[in-house]
Amino acid sequence: MIDKLSPLIQEWIKHDTVRIMSTKLCSENYVGIRMSIFFSGCDNYCKGCFNKETWNWNNGEEWTLERLFEECTKYEFADVSILGGDCLYHKNVEATESLVWLLKEYTDKHITIYTGSIWEDIIQDEAKFNAIQYADILIDGKYDENLKDRTLAFRGSSNQRIIDIQQSIKEERIIEVQL
Ligand code: SF4
Repeated sequence: MIDKLSPLIQEWIKHDTVRIMSTKLCSENYVGIRMSIFFSGCDNYCKGCFNKETWNWNNGEEWTLERLFEECTKYEFADVSILGGDCLYHKNVEATESLVWLLKEYTDKHITIYTGSIWEDIIQDEAKFNAIQYADILIDGKYDENLKDRTLAFRGSSNQRIIDIQQSIKEERIIEVQL
């Protein structure tokens, strides 16, 4: 897959780095089989967080963008989910923008992003909006233990929404996906 990229882009992604906790091929993080990417770093500190070891950005391992792109594309049948930690944490937001851009430019992967930020704040924040704007689905909001609901698809609490990013941008209002 890397050889499809222009020499300039190949050079760029060899040097840019990101901190990753882990990756997992699974069907838990949105529809279908997906390569799930867990970034390290999160300052949402949700009570009852399922993944506290990701809060500290330094807990992750340094990966090049090239390695991350290869991980996301190594199985042709798998789409991509980006989680954390929080991929929109200030130290991750640029890398998320780069990864989403690369995947949309060079593959037909469906991309789902999980974040503790909410849509209303993301669209007011240039860096966060740039990071999500080419992805397909946003699952937004902090995990709220008081609103925990095990029957929900792909979310932990009922405040979290499944948002169709492209449709929401087009219509300039939140378009939720009902699953
Ligand atoms: S956003 Fe996710 S990783 Fe961060 S504290 Fe909340 S549940 Fe944990």
